[in-house]
Amino acid sequence: MREQPDLLNASEVSPVLEALLTHVGMGLWELNLVTGTLRGDMRLHRMLKLPEEEWVLLTMQRWQARVHEEDRQIFQREWRGALSGQGFDSVYRMRLGDNRWVWIHDRSLLQLPGASERAARLIGVVEDVTAVQERQQLWQGLASNLPGVIYTFRMDAHGHTSFPFISERLQEFCGIPPEAARQDAKSLFNTVHPEDLPRFMATVERSKLTLKDWHCEYRVHNGVAWHWLEGRATPEREPDGSTVWHGLVYLVDDRKRLEEELRQLSMTDELTGLFNRRHLLIRLAEALALFQRTGVPFSLVEVDLDDFKGINDQCGHAVGDYVLKQLAKLFARQLRRTDVVGRVGGEEFLILLPDTDQAGALALADALRRALADERFTDTAGNTFHVTLSAGVTTVRPDDHEPELPWARADHALYRAKAIGRNYVMGDEATDKAGTVRSPRGH
Ligand code: GH3
Ligand code: MG
Ligand code: MG
Repeated sequence: MREQPDLLNASEVSPVLEALLTHVGMGLWELNLVTGTLRGDMRLHRMLKLPEEEWVLLTMQRWQARVHEEDRQIFQREWRGALSGQGFDSVYRMRLGDNRWVWIHDRSLLQLPGASERAARLIGVVEDVTAVQERQQLWQGLASNLPGVIYTFRMDAHGHTSFPFISERLQEFCGIPPEAARQDAKSLFNTVHPEDLPRFMATVERSKLTLKDWHCEYRVHNGVAWHWLEGRATPEREPDGSTVWHGLVYLVDDRKRLEEELRQLSMTDELTGLFNRRHLLIRLAEALALFQRTGVPFSLVEVDLDDFKGINDQCGHAVGDYVLKQLAKLFARQLRRTDVVGRVGGEEFLILLPDTDQAGALALADALRRALADERFTDTAGNTFHVTLSAGVTTVRPDDHEPELPWARADHALYRAKAIGRNYVMGDEATDKAGTVRSPRGH
């Protein structure tokens, strides 16, 4: 057996360098570029634990045979680069002499020309990076299995933004590759819904100024559809004046859908699908506030079905319900999108007509009255019948400080329409001076 060919005898490696290499745990190698013969120092020898016969006759081919199959391609590519003078820098798995697998970081440091071309050598170092690599893999595994994106977001003192770290699922969430966001965060902000972007930016700015946690719910487009995201992050100020947030963003589509369904339910009347009384009151208060600000009047129509108790009594409650649903459809056909209609009682409805004066409201209410009177209903026995409505109309006034005031006037007008004999539309007395009966029975 040949004598242990320790690389670079003491005259070539200074004691300082020796101590340094030992301290950092790096093994040194030297490759003859012509013969492919490899020599390593004692540190490499201890690290690799190769059998003596393999160690003394080490070649490039023998080394490569110990590289993990899946990493061999990367190894060979680096190797070809090294031969063409580009240096060698690769992380791969290698089987040790005791058959243990380790992650190796292998780098060439310099190429020495040698006395003749045949003696040209490549010098490099090997480091066992198994612990780092395993931690990184654990981290990446966690990051890609989380139902969200984790990131570090940086805004420097000049306002430039970037994501030094952002996990792979970004692509799935926002439709852009993580590398693009790492360099410049703008590409990511461009995916935020235009309606949400100002609020999004304001929350980031506030978090930067106050150094309080960032929290925002916003929509992004991932190239296929809009999605709701919720993000949370904790900011820190760096000595150079930049702010760095560490955070998490996750999908909240399901929760948002549920919230929206609940919101809709809370303002909808179950039977007719129209708004309910509670929501109509909110809308009336909002309309009134807008009127107080702008002076643009709106009108109210209160509708009540005539003798509905009789219909229930004669045809049954189910037919009564059917009539109510048909009336809701009639409203949908006759009203504008900006009109607001709700069921405020059993067979009572309130309609808000924006930007409409008393005359316009009376005309509309009368059109509704006629449309319903023309409709023919059939009961369970196959008999047809008609249903009529009465309505009270009013227009808001500057002294209407409470929603109850115009509503009471419409109610009063409705009462008068009923008193006169039903199937009538009546304006309120004060606005419509004569309190004219607008729609005598029989059109
Ligand atoms: P008027 O012309 O004076 O308005 O007489 P009316 O019978 O319509 O008025 P009244 O207030 O005496 O009766 C209203 C009826 O509406 C009583 C109730 O049975 C019926 N009603 C209320 N809510 C519903 C409902 O959801 N479904 C059905 N089918 N009927 C309802
Ligand atoms: Mg009633
Ligand atoms: Mg009624």
